[in-house]
Amino acid sequence: MNPFQKIGTLFKLAASPQCAEISRILSRCQDTPLPWILRRRLEWHLAACEWCRRYADQISLLGYFARQFSSQSCESGKKKLSPHTAERIKNKLRDAKK
Ligand SMILES: [Zn+2]
Repeated sequence: MNPFQKIGTLFKLAASPQCAEISRILSRCQDTPLPWILRRRLEWHLAACEWCRRYADQISLLGYFARQFSSQSCESGKKKLSPHTAERIKNKLRDAKK
C-alpha cells in the first residue's frame, strides 16, 4: 500500500466509522497509537454507540488480564493462571455479558 492509499484508508475510516470498522480500530489501538483524527472519530462513535462501548470495555479488560498474566508468568516462571486469577477472569467475563 502506497502512502496515498494509506492516508485515503485512514480518512475513509475516520469519515464514517461503522461498528465493524470500530471493532477493528479498537483491536488495532491495543497495539499501536492511532492518528489524532481516528482517535477523535473513535471517541465520537463510542459516545453514541453502546455496543461498541461494551466491546471497548471487554477488549480493554482482556488486554489488562493478558498483561497481568504476561508479567506474572515472566516474574515467577509459571505458565498457568492461579486459581484466584482464573476465577476473577471468569467473573469479569460473566459480568461483561450481562
Ligand atoms: Zn458502534
